[in-house]
Amino acid sequence: WAALHGCSARSGRGGQGRAAAGGTTGDTPPPAPTCGKAMLYVSPMGVPALAAAPSPRWAPWGGLGVNTGGWSALPRYSLYARTRLGYLFYQRQVKKARERYPHGHSAPQPCCFPGMKILPIPVLSNNYSYLVIDTGSGQAAVIDPSDPLAVQAAIEEEGVMLEAIFCTHKHWDHSGGNAALRQQHGSCKVYGSTLDGIPELTNPLADREKVRVGCLTFEALATPGHTVGHMVYGLGGPPNPTPLHDRRLHGGPGRLFEGSPETMLASLDVAVGLGEDTLLWPGHEYALECLTFASLLELDNPALEQKLQWVTQQRQEKRSTCPSTLGEEQTYNPFLRTHRPELQAALGLRRGGGEHPDAFRARVLKEVRRRKDLYKAT
Ligand SMILES: [Zn+2]
Repeated sequence: WAALHGCSARSGRGGQGRAAAGGTTGDTPPPAPTCGKAMLYVSPMGVPALAAAPSPRWAPWGGLGVNTGGWSALPRYSLYARTRLGYLFYQRQVKKARERYPHGHSAPQPCCFPGMKILPIPVLSNNYSYLVIDTGSGQAAVIDPSDPLAVQAAIEEEGVMLEAIFCTHKHWDHSGGNAALRQQHGSCKVYGSTLDGIPELTNPLADREKVRVGCLTFEALATPGHTVGHMVYGLGGPPNPTPLHDRRLHGGPGRLFEGSPETMLASLDVAVGLGEDTLLWPGHEYALECLTFASLLELDNPALEQKLQWVTQQRQEKRSTCPSTLGEEQTYNPFLRTHRPELQAALGLRRGGGEHPDAFRARVLKEVRRRKDLYKAT
């Protein structure tokens, strides 16, 4: 793990860490920003492009399924999430994406760590699946397999054995490949929350439950909000003097289809609690849009400007913008800055007399979401 310290030094904020943290194959140094600190892979902004709707990624607010945004979410969402129509729509999405992006929507940038490799697999029009490989044993897990063909191709190219599927939540663009992969890999188990109705689920997980895959240890963290059973996954490295100090998560709170702003805020706080050096790996390639929106909220934020500049360049070259670190996300991501006076001021919000700080932050989060809805609608 000492080697990882070298990366840590270059893994700064505001986008400076990208060159290191995004780093990759061949001679490129491993991306881990530090040893002994938590990592997270999943961005709070990384949410599914549900039904390709021209709508915000965290809508709608106002409690369970209640739409306060511009998107007729409840009927449409119910169709997508709870009926076969949703599955048919997903299949069409997959087909169109394969035609439009035969090599994926972005250039994959593998991240190599001692004993472990994380390979992002660009799927659909902006989703990511992740193949996580214990390089010692060749055992692997995939997170959120949307397109089974793309995942299978990566498995074959890497020459690994698929032992586990981890699903962050039930939506088809995160779980649609479960059945096909299970057919091909008979011993492969499917993990996720029992609350979420994940297809082909074999091993329901409780909050903080751990699963071993080869030398790697995954830890499930319940982060409800986007769906009632949404989970992100921490990942421990191979056996070493600081096992489980390095954790990576995947998932993303996403739109608030099945939770309130308060619920989402609590889930985000769970993620933030993992520490600034935690790596964030998003479920979607949304950074450019999210940061452009953020730059309209906070007009004078150098970290945001710098990151937006870097992201713009990355996307011009069709390169992935992940992972980021939780530390840098907190410098520019409005959904993680509800406690910041400058953001509150920019939104014109003030904490009411007697208002609980968390209640106020939830109100700030709701307002950010509302503005994002308007931004998307225009
Ligand atoms: Zn979803």
